[in-house]
Amino acid sequence: MRIILLGPPGSGKGTQAQLLVQRYGIVQLSTGEMLRAAVAAGTPVGLKAKEIMASGGLVPDDVVVGIISDRIDQPDAKNGFILDGFPRTVPQAEALDELLKHKHLKLDAVIELRVNESALLNRVETRVAQMRERGEEVRLDDTPEVLTKRLASYRNQTEPLIHYYSERRKLSTIDGMMAIDEVTRAIHRQLLALGAVEPKSHGKTHGKTRARSAAKAAPAKKAKAATKSAKKPTKTAKKAAKSRKAAKKTVTGPKKAAKKTGKKAVKKAGKKKAAKKTAKKAVKKGAKKAAKKVTKKRAKR
Ligand code: AMP
Repeated sequence: MRIILLGPPGSGKGTQAQLLVQRYGIVQLSTGEMLRAAVAAGTPVGLKAKEIMASGGLVPDDVVVGIISDRIDQPDAKNGFILDGFPRTVPQAEALDELLKHKHLKLDAVIELRVNESALLNRVETRVAQMRERGEEVRLDDTPEVLTKRLASYRNQTEPLIHYYSERRKLSTIDGMMAIDEVTRAIHRQLLALGAVEPKSHGKTHGKTRARSAAKAAPAKKAKAATKSAKKPTKTAKKAAKSRKAAKKTVTGPKKAAKKTGKKAVKKAGKKKAAKKTAKKAVKKGAKKAAKKVTKKRAKR
């Protein structure tokens, strides 16, 4: 499966991409990550990109297209990939179409995460705070000033891609303002509807076999299975059921304990009874012996 995640900075592309990676066993190709790695390593690409990235501008198309083309050829991308942050301009989208055609690969879907722009600054601020808390290095371009510029770049250069992919009947728009797991579920439903994934791919991690068989599955079979999967409990539902079970266990715990104590009491009582019996027997035996002794003595006399 090959998909593109489209959305402004802070729309949750990275988060969703990581969840999709776990779910479908495909790789996340984030040009932002690759460029940051290049900057950190001080490669020629990194040196070119450093200033542009720090100011919130876009790195030249040919640079990112080159990076993506090479990355798609890597063995781990053979199973499928999620493009996160690429393409960002119409010329990049055209170049991607060309290179996919050249590599005989098909793009399954473009998922747009639509978010309220006013929420983005808040989201990025939260992300920065969380990264600081975890002791992670904060991105240089995650500041209110640079974010404003990145948003402007998105509006002017990336948003036209919505029209580009909608015209090519590739675009699916999802409300990115929902909770993270709701967005993931919505993406999954969309991919199912498009026949891009196998209905059974609701599990945690999926290997190559599953993804490969998803690609091979017949459309009718896929549709039938899609309905089946929609009825299957979601991860959250499963979790809720688990915690309900756990809660039940805790509730029934004291009962069980009481039963146990009861059993013990019965056992104890049984033991006591037995002891009493033995004592009685012993008394009886003793009495008999004493009686015998008396009879013997009397007989002697
Ligand atoms: P991101 O991590 O996707 O927010 O990207 C961080 C920065 O890397 C962007 O603000 C751009 O400067 C640069 N960048 C990432 N992807 C691209 C791309 N496809 N085209 C141009 N610049 C990019």
